[in-house]
Amino acid sequence: MEETAKQDLVFLELRQKLQSGLLFIRSDIVRDGADVEIESKQDSILNIQTADWTYQVHLTSGVSLVETLCQKSPGSTEHGSHFRLRLRVDQPSEAPCSVIGELQVKVTYSFLCQSCGSMVLQNRAFGRVLPLPNGNWNALVDDWCCHPDPFANRKLLPRDGDCLLGDTFILLARDSSCEQTLTREGNSSQQASAEQKRSSKRVMVSCRSCSAVLGEELTAEVLKFYITEILVKPHEDGECDIAQLSLETKPNSIRQRFLEQTLASRLVELSSAQSIFRFSIQTPDGKPVILLWLLNTDTLVASFPDAAARGDSFISAGDVHPREHQSCQAVQAVKVLYVLCSDSKLKDVVDVWEKDISVHPLPLPQGSCEELQKLLMSSTFRLPAFLRCMNSYQVCPLLQR
Ligand SMILES: [Zn+2]
Repeated sequence: MEETAKQDLVFLELRQKLQSGLLFIRSDIVRDGADVEIESKQDSILNIQTADWTYQVHLTSGVSLVETLCQKSPGSTEHGSHFRLRLRVDQPSEAPCSVIGELQVKVTYSFLCQSCGSMVLQNRAFGRVLPLPNGNWNALVDDWCCHPDPFANRKLLPRDGDCLLGDTFILLARDSSCEQTLTREGNSSQQASAEQKRSSKRVMVSCRSCSAVLGEELTAEVLKFYITEILVKPHEDGECDIAQLSLETKPNSIRQRFLEQTLASRLVELSSAQSIFRFSIQTPDGKPVILLWLLNTDTLVASFPDAAARGDSFISAGDVHPREHQSCQAVQAVKVLYVLCSDSKLKDVVDVWEKDISVHPLPLPQGSCEELQKLLMSSTFRLPAFLRCMNSYQVCPLLQR
């Protein structure tokens, strides 16, 4: 049972809006649930006591357990016991912004390669930070205009001092420092052949230090950077959440966490601004890779992984004393349903979504689409078995912090 081996020992999922939660404890920790005590001696701290172990979850401030209404759910499964919790939520937590929500005019920013931390663009301040129309805007113009589309074949491009915000990318004017920090796919010595190449295929731009693909060259003067590939630091260092990501330890898990947080925060922003809940994560040339349905944005999750898989947990336990006491912080998450387009059994679902104009395209570099596939699948396998799927869709919490 490989799947059970990866499943976390204890998993907690709380819904702030519903003021309720679900606690799952794996069967090798507690057999029938009778000897489990769940209590909240201090505000915002949940204690889960089994015969041998104590698990402590630090909830976010303003969230606490209403003890008397904690009750055992009727359906304990062969994999473990689960409990329903009733909560008190004074103030639901605010969702963190993505870099697209953070960028402002007249603030000086530096842009770094997320993979290796190298500087890509230094000290850029913008006179205008403007959103681009949403991903389906060309199709929508056709519906609105009774004459031929006036914007056909015209691109919205930034001038010097502009920063244009797409759904998953920013557009900036190139500056002279790019020659030292970026490489372009298919470099050509002759400008004419570069122009031809640009019209026939995409010109990807990569970090000169580590070769990670960061974006595309739209014209000779304009660059597109994907928000999953760059770190944006305001000049007043330390002010911005994204600036606090350390690049020093566990580069792999930091990369995964960054990708997960960036996607989660963008899903929240797009759904609240435009009431969009279904997304198609696709490669830059429009090939769908993952179809994603945003279920809710008010979830808090906490988990305690098996000792063997501790480094792979949703949230690594901060205070580990085996067979005694473990604690962790509950983290804000969004819950999504997804299907992988490579799954041939789900071709019908994929076909229906592809024809639906209300499904919002989210282009990302091919490598990041593949990383996201792995990340979603690994998060799903760590859930209790009964929470992993809903009809044809897989379920996964994406952490926001
Ligand atoms: Zn790099």
